[in-house]
Amino acid sequence: MHFHVVTIFPEVCEAYTSASVLGRAQKTEKGKGAKVRGKKIEVSYYNPRDFSTDKHKKVDDRPYGGGPGMVMIAEPILKAFEKAVGRKQNKAKVKTLIMSPRGTVFTNELAKQWAKAYDHVVIVSGRYEGIDARVKEILGAEEVSVGDYVLTGGELPALTIIDSVSRQIPGVLGTFESLEDERTTEGVSYTRPEVLKYKKQEYVVPEVLVNGNHAAIEKWRAQK
Ligand code: SAH
Repeated sequence: MHFHVVTIFPEVCEAYTSASVLGRAQKTEKGKGAKVRGKKIEVSYYNPRDFSTDKHKKVDDRPYGGGPGMVMIAEPILKAFEKAVGRKQNKAKVKTLIMSPRGTVFTNELAKQWAKAYDHVVIVSGRYEGIDARVKEILGAEEVSVGDYVLTGGELPALTIIDSVSRQIPGVLGTFESLEDERTTEGVSYTRPEVLKYKKQEYVVPEVLVNGNHAAIEKWRAQK
């Protein structure tokens, strides 16, 4: 899966996508013996400023009809899109998303569907008061929201989508982590020490978890 993020703050996003599970998924790794684990995902960034024809590299302008704030200009975003996937032959494998607080609310179910159906996900991240509405029309994009609240920009939503879609791609998580992912019923977890002393109080791990009776543990977790 290749994610293409159109944002005026690529450096903000890069720090996150190069760490931990997502960072590992972008590398080829040598496994046991001659086994090579291929890249599972790729993440590319495109800054609309690099595609601006304005001498000040302007990417926003005043809204038609008046109103507060500025709107992101269509052309630099469209050019960024062209650079990302413009020449791709199989358009059916490309999904284009525009981050918007008014879009379809993103869910784990959508993450699963997209991980299966597409090879390229283009994520257009907005700033200011949003993006010229013609971008959506021209790109046949879907507006997606990560929840019922308003953020300053589409970068956190873009990262949220990359993170959760990647988790649904076979091999991104280790076998153990993927199993853990399925265990949605498991709400509480403890680690060492068994007795935690904090401000003169003792907090003890539930007895059932330390006595090694796996059937009892499963039952306890199910009840929880
Ligand atoms: N008044 C504007 C708010 C824009 S917020 C409006 O009603 O659309 C600036 C940018 O942040 C948006 O263009 C979008 O890309 C992003 N954003 C903010 N909240 C978001 C959310 N809940 N989900 C997805 N993107 C969001």
